[in-house]
Amino acid sequence: MSFLTIEHLEKSFGPNRVVKDFNLTIEKGEFISLLGPSGCGKTTVLRMVAGFETPTSGAIHIDGKDVVRLRPNQRSIGMVFQAYALFPNLTVAQNVGFGLKVNGTARQEIQSRVEEMLSLIGLPDLGARYPFQLSGGQQQRVALARALAPRPQVLLLDEPLSALDAKIRVSLREEIRAIQQKLGITTIFVTHDQEEALSISDRIVVMHQGIADQVGTPFEIYNNPATRFVAGFVGTLNLMEAKVIDAEKGVTTIGGAPVILGRPLPKGKATLAARPETIRLGRAPGKDTVLAGKITGVNFLGSVIRLRADVGGQVIDFDTFNAPGVPPPTPGTEVELSLSARDLLVIPE
Ligand code: ATP
Repeated sequence: MSFLTIEHLEKSFGPNRVVKDFNLTIEKGEFISLLGPSGCGKTTVLRMVAGFETPTSGAIHIDGKDVVRLRPNQRSIGMVFQAYALFPNLTVAQNVGFGLKVNGTARQEIQSRVEEMLSLIGLPDLGARYPFQLSGGQQQRVALARALAPRPQVLLLDEPLSALDAKIRVSLREEIRAIQQKLGITTIFVTHDQEEALSISDRIVVMHQGIADQVGTPFEIYNNPATRFVAGFVGTLNLMEAKVIDAEKGVTTIGGAPVILGRPLPKGKATLAARPETIRLGRAPGKDTVLAGKITGVNFLGSVIRLRADVGGQVIDFDTFNAPGVPPPTPGTEVELSLSARDLLVIPE
């Protein structure tokens, strides 16, 4: 049996079924992200694992133990929330030691654990401060230390980075991942930010309307989306409706140009997809398919330039790297685009 298993989990609020037949197994030490748009049910799943919400039906086991009827403090979980939920009237050290005090840990043990936790989060000297004397990023690190201090078996993180500004968000997510790996603690992380999920996770669960659409490594989720929703939600994709000429050999057309996939396609029509970064401006070495188009949009993003082209009525976005000596093409310019048939994804209906 896996370390944490969720089977046929369901949650309804009145007539509203917000989690539907949710299944997931997590190995010890894994970092799992629940990724999906607002309202898809990811927080509700996390709250059921934590014990703040009772499932309508289904089972949750942690380390072989059925926890559904256990209170949050009986489940060996630590949780960090989006908003800084520190106790404002307690010092940093008292906040970190709070769970230990509640469970009756001896004073000396609390003190040494608090010191250990503060050095783990890189704030060894801030124990005497109050939360209002800390930056947002520091407060979230203290919240993490507080969650970890009782040495829980599972760490639950509910959008812990979303209230922070972009730079801190990136550095803190790297820190969270490093701490998680150092401790080897099994972790579930809720986020609506795909880049965050891709960068931090061992595996990602993409959720959509209460359902787990796909479970996979970041590489699998990004490169082999199992559903049209996953394809559209994770990363940017050019979705192309293609007329299938030979289903067996995978011959089709994009914007009138023939494309030989060399993999079987559904008969009649297929939806193909290409990531912008797999398409090149001009004829590029190693790209086997060339399309003719006209530039309709230029979006300068700094290191890359996102271009939009009309290819026989098909809108295609693609990237080119900024080169200071070579200005990007302007709208109206006739261009050639090249891509590899190998990089095209076939999107299941
Ligand atoms: P967000 O990122 O916005 O928090 P989420 O994916 O985490 O979104 P949930 O918070 O799990 O989504 O909410 C899923 C659905 O359940 C939403 O439609 C929400 O309105 C509803 N919901 C959540 N909690 C309750 C509640 N206590 N009573 C009634 N409806 C609820």
